Amino acid sequence: MQTSQPDDRVPCARGDRLPVLDPATGEAFDEVPDQQCELDAVVHRSHEAWRSWRTDSAARTGALLAAADAVEASGDALASLLTREQGKPLTESYAEVARTAARLRYFAELYPGPQPIADGRPVHSEIRWRPLGPVAAIVPWNFPLQLASAKFAPALAAGNTVVLKPSPFTPLATRLLGSVISAVLPEDVLTVVTGREPLGARLASHPGIRHVTFTGSVPTGRAVAKGAADTLTRVTLELGGNDAAILLEDVDVERIADRLFWAAFRNCGQVCMAVKRVYAPARLCSRVVEALAHRARTVVVGPGLDPGSEMGPVNNAPQLARVERCTARALADGARVAAGGRRLDRPGYFFAPTVLTDVPSHSPVVTDEQFGPVLPVLPYARLDEAVEAANGTGFGLGGSVWGTDLDEAEAVADRLECGTAWINHHAELSLAQPFAGTGRSGLGVAGGPWGLYGNLRPFVVHRPKEP
Ligand code: NAD
Repeated sequence: MQTSQPDDRVPCARGDRLPVLDPATGEAFDEVPDQQCELDAVVHRSHEAWRSWRTDSAARTGALLAAADAVEASGDALASLLTREQGKPLTESYAEVARTAARLRYFAELYPGPQPIADGRPVHSEIRWRPLGPVAAIVPWNFPLQLASAKFAPALAAGNTVVLKPSPFTPLATRLLGSVISAVLPEDVLTVVTGREPLGARLASHPGIRHVTFTGSVPTGRAVAKGAADTLTRVTLELGGNDAAILLEDVDVERIADRLFWAAFRNCGQVCMAVKRVYAPARLCSRVVEALAHRARTVVVGPGLDPGSEMGPVNNAPQLARVERCTARALADGARVAAGGRRLDRPGYFFAPTVLTDVPSHSPVVTDEQFGPVLPVLPYARLDEAVEAANGTGFGLGGSVWGTDLDEAEAVADRLECGTAWINHHAELSLAQPFAGTGRSGLGVAGGPWGLYGNLRPFVVHRPKEP
């Protein structure tokens, strides 16, 4: 097997370590190895392991079900480590672990048998789905385990092996997850590698990799696609979002306020499919702003390990700086703060949940992805304006419509240019649904059977009925 291109910029001193910071304090509490030097060997071993892993789908089903059990049995350790390095409240980390186990179970039994092609010709033709080879899975820091499992569960179930690279901000729970799962799978079927860039770039363009499945920002997604172009490797990209929530004239503001608030602020707003903009009818706008601002002022913000915390810190210093910049720019553009608007005066990366009003539509907090606890509420005079604005940023991950007349809400939802639209909800996803953004939000389809087929290639056999 080929090795990756030699690269003079790659720091390859064995023994390099990366500190891992607790976002609730801003201080390092552990470290992980920088595995730049090991990448070629890891991909090589992944390829060797693939030779037998690809052969027996029934054995894979058993192994992946056992992996799901092992993840659940390690739930306490995984959840507390996840909260420590990511910052989210412990209950949300437990939910992430549960989702990881559920995904393994869902995909474990989904492998497709041969599929006959019934086209009336006098031949027996069938599709036999085949795996691709080693898959590179690269994920961000907002849902480290859940997003990793969204990649490795379908890839492994399809008969591929996986090299998984977590974000340098959140490598610890993923390393633990890797060792928990590897204990019940054959050696080298799932390998976690940690390190700083250019580890991800080298993995994405490695000639031994047959599919790169990436979740992260739009600029990095573009770089990944360019890197994979050299080796003509299949690429799946799940990128940023700027989801809009459109409130209709008949919306019951008090009834939906909690749900809408958490659709924007869960995981401290660091959700690709968070509500990132609210469009409200002009006559209701001040009531909507006040309902959301009231919740923003009263939500308990604190370290994720504190049982009372409802919202944790921003995950890392560069992201906090981005949230601060975005807010300052909105205020300079003429926005007003209805709640929050500043960093909290305490150690760590805490930012007060922020609701903004009077935000000009050209301000980056509206046109781009803030990816933090800041929400602009914008008035509209005509519904068509709101739909046009919702569709007008080039992103297309999700969107939602909120109102009492469900038929009317559904008719408006149908006009949204995105992968998933909800009515009176946001970002509730089924394991069985396709997950695909449009525009800048991504390329390819993950989730459900489509996610499995994204890790397979069709192999067709034609056989005559007579010799
Ligand atoms: P990021 O793009 O900076 O990093 C994502 C991953 O790519 C990390 O593991 C990082 O180390 C790695 N990486 C960095 N440079 C690379 C390169 N040149 N080649 C290969 N890998 C590289 O994103 P982030 O800041 O970690 O995460 C936030 C972004 O992720 C937001 O834009 C958010 O919307 C997006 N996101 C999307 C989804 C989705 O499903 N669509 C889900 C979660 C997050």
